[in-house]
Amino acid sequence: MTSNIRVRFAPAPTGLLHIGNARTALFNFLFARRHQGTFVLRIEDTDLERSTNASIDRIIEDLTWLGISWEEGPDREGAHGPYRQSQRLSTYRELADRLCQEGKSYKCFCSEERLEKLRKEQLSKGKMPRYDGRCRSLPPEEIAKMESSGLRPVLRFRVGRGSILFEDLIHGKMSFDSAGIGDFIMVRSDGMAAYNFACVMDDHLMHISHVIRGEDHLSNTPRQILLYQALAWQPPIFAHHPLILGPDRAPLSKRHGATAVSQYRDEGFLPEALQNYLILLGWTPPSGQETLALEKMVEEFSIQDLSRSAPIYNRKKLEWLNSYYIREKGEGPLAEMVAPYLQRAGIQIDQIDPQWFHQICGVLKENLVILSQVEEYLGIFFDEKFFFDEGAQAILQDPKNRQTLHSILGALEDSSDITSEDQASLLRQWGKKTGRKGKDLYAPLRAAMTGKTKGPELVKTLPLLGKERMIRRLKMALEIS
Ligand code: GLU
Repeated sequence: MTSNIRVRFAPAPTGLLHIGNARTALFNFLFARRHQGTFVLRIEDTDLERSTNASIDRIIEDLTWLGISWEEGPDREGAHGPYRQSQRLSTYRELADRLCQEGKSYKCFCSEERLEKLRKEQLSKGKMPRYDGRCRSLPPEEIAKMESSGLRPVLRFRVGRGSILFEDLIHGKMSFDSAGIGDFIMVRSDGMAAYNFACVMDDHLMHISHVIRGEDHLSNTPRQILLYQALAWQPPIFAHHPLILGPDRAPLSKRHGATAVSQYRDEGFLPEALQNYLILLGWTPPSGQETLALEKMVEEFSIQDLSRSAPIYNRKKLEWLNSYYIREKGEGPLAEMVAPYLQRAGIQIDQIDPQWFHQICGVLKENLVILSQVEEYLGIFFDEKFFFDEGAQAILQDPKNRQTLHSILGALEDSSDITSEDQASLLRQWGKKTGRKGKDLYAPLRAAMTGKTKGPELVKTLPLLGKERMIRRLKMALEIS
């Protein structure tokens, strides 16, 4: 059964989905799920110059990848659409006219130059820049004259005196003095609704009960409440969450590294890991269990419990979660996720025995922090990528190591083909035969067989190489001088 709880995520389609916005979407999604409510995706594309359809598609793709779904949106019409602001212009116009007729808004003809000058003057006097109200009471004849001369006004909201109060679910009681708020623009001179105006119209007409968004919008909320009051509408309940900061405490941006969801996806982060990481930013699960599946988040997460202080981005923690979720994956599903990285590296995936490939993934999953790292290990399993790296070459030049490998080569040539069961005992036999153990045995063996000094467990890796390949590589290793 659905409740009256309705929330929305309202991105502007002007670029890639930032992980900060994805976190806002996740909060809204979880809130709706927890309260059997409805989650709406609304596209705020009133900035026609910067908004693109490609960006809308990417946002939908990234949210879907992240496991976030919605009941109403541009791609699934509901009772309160359309869900793109550019398709709601006639609604905005009607309501703007109503406010204008009621004298709650007015036409302003001030030029950009005048406003810029005013702003500079105010700033130089240490004042907060705000519109000075010059066009507040223009006589109708003057308005008509300016309009007939071709001047296109903006529509400003007439801000009255008083305090604006609201209760924020995260910050508690909030109070703003309207004296600090200038008459703000509702409709731009090109006829397009400005953010605050369009947002209020839509939140009301879409029956949004709770607005959960970033703290960067906290200063917009008193303006929006004034609009609700002017239209005698009930405002929704607000929750403004702190934004993610970089390690230097500046808002998380490109200079801190990847910020777009799609970048994380390309690098090989799993959606479960990113989801889980985002929910832990500013929130500690009451159970103390940090790895949470989506269903558990729905049960345990509550927006009121979010910390009021800003969380700091920590890639190491995200990587830790990612390696956890990689280890949790079965070989088959992991193979499917890893396959594109092999293809990217030029491996003909359709020519590989699927079972062998699944086993490789099973072995590699202990080593992968992000999926794209699989490229570093391809040389171990695919001859066309095989080479001895510098570290391996140094190990293989040591006479003692060469002697060890020589004697292993002899033993290997005499043995039958190897399965994972006999690999462990084979390693013991090789140890006995060469008189070497631990690192002295494994380091040359790893260098010769994998071309590397580090990698997945040898006892699991070697059987996947097979006897023939092992012999070939040992011989190649012994040719290094
Ligand atoms: N389009 C706004 C943004 O992306 C939406 C803000 C809101 O949720 O009201 O920041």
